[in-house]
Amino acid sequence: MSQSQQTIEPWLRGILRCPQCKGELVDAVHAAGEHADPSATAETAATTATTATAELRCDACHLAYPVEGGVPVLLVDLARRTDG
Ligand SMILES: [Zn+2]
Repeated sequence: MSQSQQTIEPWLRGILRCPQCKGELVDAVHAAGEHADPSATAETAATTATTATAELRCDACHLAYPVEGGVPVLLVDLARRTDG
């Protein structure tokens, strides 16, 4: 019934920039790492990754900004670090 993955409006997506470096953002999907079992293997995670969330990633800053309900939250404070 409800879509598992929201998409961002094309016009909005086109003007989005990283708030920290003003660089371009890359569409990405984050597979529920927050509550993932640390002992789970990649194989296990793949089969249970039904709660994957969309995010916008900045490779320059190694930050990934969450997309909530199709609305990108471009706040550095809420971004997830992707470099470890
Ligand atoms: Zn950036």
